Amino acid sequence: MEILVFILGTILGSFYLVVGTRLPLKENIITGRSRCDFCHETLHWYELIPILSFLLQKGKCRHCKKKISLIHLIMEICTGSLFLAGYIYLGFTIRYAIYLVIVSVALIIFVSDLKYMIILDSPLIIGSILVIILKYFEVGFKNTGIAIFYGVLLLLIMLLIKFLGDKLFKKESLGGGDIKLCFLIGLTIGYPQIGFRLGLICLIFASFLALPYALLSVYLNKKNELPYGPFLISAMIIIFVFIEKFSHLTILFS
Ligand SMILES: [Zn+2]
Repeated sequence: MEILVFILGTILGSFYLVVGTRLPLKENIITGRSRCDFCHETLHWYELIPILSFLLQKGKCRHCKKKISLIHLIMEICTGSLFLAGYIYLGFTIRYAIYLVIVSVALIIFVSDLKYMIILDSPLIIGSILVIILKYFEVGFKNTGIAIFYGVLLLLIMLLIKFLGDKLFKKESLGGGDIKLCFLIGLTIGYPQIGFRLGLICLIFASFLALPYALLSVYLNKKNELPYGPFLISAMIIIFVFIEKFSHLTILFS
């Protein structure tokens, strides 16, 4: 079972890389066949086996011999490992299904936000719908309603932070994608009673995660904006998986 989960992760990982890199360019991701980034040769099935194809071809295209970006291998291994780690920790549960959805959305956001500074709407919308359906099976109708409410609440708080931030820094402080992402965050960790406080902890936790990256980009004198989305969604996944530990922290806000 562990091996199957890992293999499924590696296959989906290369798909998420395609979604994250091609969808912002409005390219078709379903019918468009996989091609080499350089010579645009259509790839055969045996050139698309996750991890193995990369290793057997020694990281080079079979046609033009150009080096294939290492990101393909990294994405496949990361996705496989995340799918496997979740399975080991959560087992075959509804929570694991929710975990798979948010990890998938996270990986697509990682690719598109780091590459283009864009958070796509479609993974957020599809992810939110799937989480709402799974929540219903996890916590029932009423508590799913509460979770949706917390999602809206966190989105409004983010809008307020953006409004204040824009006034303070006199430029765009937060991207629209980061704000929309907060609905999914409030929804996913929006458990009754503690949901709202968990949402606030997530915003603070994400800032801590982003701190080393922010300091490094200041140190390297990079003027570019900080992608906040990947840190937000990473913080959410950590809180979701270790919810019992983080629910103790909510005392800080009571
Ligand atoms: Zn090629």
